[in-house]
Amino acid sequence: MPTYDYKCPNCDHRFVARHGFNDHPPVCPNCGYADVTRVITKAPAVAGGIMTHAGDSRASSKEQLKDKWAEETPKLRKKLVEKLGEDTVRKNAPSLFNNSD
Ligand SMILES: [Zn+2]
Repeated sequence: MPTYDYKCPNCDHRFVARHGFNDHPPVCPNCGYADVTRVITKAPAVAGGIMTHAGDSRASSKEQLKDKWAEETPKLRKKLVEKLGEDTVRKNAPSLFNNSD
């Protein structure tokens, strides 16, 4: 089960709680405040997703985004062309036509 960092906006107490992803967040152990704020210190690893550990190099996530974009561009272009017509899309989003399929 993952641990999460929380900060209480009521008393500024910071604490770590361990609970499931879909569980309700805990209450502040210091003052009992229920609406604590989750502090994102490191993103949990998501297999196959574009989320990466904060410690990962920027280069690798950039490459992943590029791959994702290259993969999505033709689909997005097709969708937009169907909806708006090719002339409109070319005029407003020329970058969609720069990447070859
Ligand atoms: Zn508190």
